[in-house]
Amino acid sequence: MSPEKKENCGLFGIYGDADAVQKTHFGLYSLQHRGQESAGIASSNGRFIQCYTGMGTVARVFRKDSGLLEKLSNPMAIGHVRYSTTGSTKSANSQPFLSEYSRGQVAIAHNGNLINASVLRDEYEAYGHIFKSTSDTEIIIHLLAKPSHAMREDPIAHTLQHLQGAYCLLFLFPDRIEAARDPHGIRPLSIGQTASGAYVVASETCAFDTIGAKFIRDVEPGEIVRLDERGLHSRFFSTPGEVTPAHCIFEHIYFAKQNSDVFGENVHTFRKCLGRQIAREHPVKADVVIPVPDSGTSAAIGYAEESGIPFDMGFVRSHYIGRTFISPTQELRDLQVKLKLATVKEIVAGKRVVVVDDSIVRGTTTRGKIRSLRQAGAKQIHMRVSCPPIRHPCFYGVDFPTKEELLANNRDMEQIRDFLDVDSVGYCSLEGLLSCASLPADHYCTACWTGQYKIPINTVVNKFIMERYQMTMFEGWIEENV
Ligand code: SF4
Repeated sequence: MSPEKKENCGLFGIYGDADAVQKTHFGLYSLQHRGQESAGIASSNGRFIQCYTGMGTVARVFRKDSGLLEKLSNPMAIGHVRYSTTGSTKSANSQPFLSEYSRGQVAIAHNGNLINASVLRDEYEAYGHIFKSTSDTEIIIHLLAKPSHAMREDPIAHTLQHLQGAYCLLFLFPDRIEAARDPHGIRPLSIGQTASGAYVVASETCAFDTIGAKFIRDVEPGEIVRLDERGLHSRFFSTPGEVTPAHCIFEHIYFAKQNSDVFGENVHTFRKCLGRQIAREHPVKADVVIPVPDSGTSAAIGYAEESGIPFDMGFVRSHYIGRTFISPTQELRDLQVKLKLATVKEIVAGKRVVVVDDSIVRGTTTRGKIRSLRQAGAKQIHMRVSCPPIRHPCFYGVDFPTKEELLANNRDMEQIRDFLDVDSVGYCSLEGLLSCASLPADHYCTACWTGQYKIPINTVVNKFIMERYQMTMFEGWIEENV
């Protein structure tokens, strides 16, 4: 995981399986790349919901000897892995959120970012509502519980009509699961089925492969899918086709796993296409193409195939390093990069090297990688990036730094090359990026490159907007110490 851009949560749910909780546990493992700050599972026996959440990775929260999975064992379950995009890293913000209201129990898990959460929370607090977290997700429970919403024929549909922004949601009621996706379909959510017929929903299809389920289809933008004893039922809370989709194309570039199919196409294949595209847009004479693993690997293969330059592994990533402290000196920061990404000297020494990465955000991490290649004896370094320069923040569930901190903000290509200290730099063009996508160009969100936000941002949106009375940030020590 790049320390510069963070994933945005993963969801998994399954209805009607004797091993629902175990399968949710496996499903969350396969979605772990989408968030490592906290994990949780809520399950129901048909009458009552139980829930357990904790800080850290799935392995850390559901330790083998904890007996938690056995205690939670029930035939329907939802699970969540979190990376915070609203609200700090603390246990009160871990999901699923379990609550009781006038209609009974409900557990909610969310992937995305609600851009009007702060406005809604102000409104509800003015009426005396008390919030126990600083996450945008909690507002959904308050909306659902509001008497004028709860008494409606379809309280969920009515609730969702009040939300703005990006959201894929799983609701677990004692007798059913309801899965919903925002009208723009910004984040992915898919439906699968196990061999025994149990229905599964997950942020990415890689979770289906893990538990041996087959992909059926995506939850459509603006759709609510209900899973209960009578099977799968669909309804829409917004008119299909009324708004143009805004699928986050960054899911293809960086977030999703290579073996997932997202927005109808395979992630690895998409990234290879990007690699071929950059090779055509930015050819260079070189001896070897190396990826920044793991998210740059598929694009580097594509670049090598198109250019005819041999592909090799110039970096080896350690999979055993969790989060590390932000080091105070450049020397320690360089050592940190080396700890996570070791250089293979034999591959790069004395060579003209093409380095392929998925994206560059602040540029400081990339510069550290370049420095270690120079120290390993690379003769020339040509940086190739499989998306355009990022110049705008994301308000739809990805934690980029502020606009001022972005490398490409107010820098031209020569200044970027200079900052990275490379011999040349080449980014994939927006047209080139979109040419690899199977859907029409206007079906994707590209706001972090163009600044054109399909859902207007009319209010202040930032990660800590809800941290009004307390600031509990534990950035940097969750993995090691919890
Ligand atoms: Fe994805 Fe960028 Fe749009 Fe955010 S702004 S949803 S990262 S494409």
